[in-house]
Amino acid sequence: MGRPVQYNSNVKMSEIPEGYSGEGFMATKFDKIIGLARSNSLWPLPFATSCCGIEFMATMGANYDLARFGSERMGFTPRQCDVLLVAGTIAKKMAPILRQVYLQMAEPRWVIAIGACASSGGIFDSYSVLQGIDQVIPVDVYVSGCPPRPEAILEGIMHVQKLAHNESLRRRNSEPYKALLESYGIQ
Ligand code: SF4
Repeated sequence: MGRPVQYNSNVKMSEIPEGYSGEGFMATKFDKIIGLARSNSLWPLPFATSCCGIEFMATMGANYDLARFGSERMGFTPRQCDVLLVAGTIAKKMAPILRQVYLQMAEPRWVIAIGACASSGGIFDSYSVLQGIDQVIPVDVYVSGCPPRPEAILEGIMHVQKLAHNESLRRRNSEPYKALLESYGIQ
């Protein structure tokens, strides 16, 4: 038996403005248009240090084809990128460099921790390895796995797309966001 069809009866139609004729038009919110554009043109900055970086290379290849999401344009300068993809083990000596790269990115910026090492140090519970990049920079999405498959990395990027699509234009100037950055010592 088919599922019962439900109609949204809350849709409100606007009257056509006086004097207007010809093709139809649509109305939306400015936030939504900006979110749509941002979410479909995310420029990734790969910060790949070990095996997870190889999975990310596969994600860029023809089989998985990150270009389908508007993210084929890798940037190797932080100033032109929106999404920092941290893939691999981050040694404590490398942490200040990762942080500097993050600081050089313009707002709005998002961060994905790809794999167990970037998320939590992974199997390297040692004196020399950072136990998760969220000790030095804020992280938006964590991708589990050691290594995560390309499908999981794609899902992480799709989560960032959702965040970008739904983000208010005021969020980056909001008090909670400033408080988040201040908790990392970022002004
Ligand atoms: S999570 Fe696993 S695959 Fe990824 S960098 Fe660490 S050890 Fe390598």
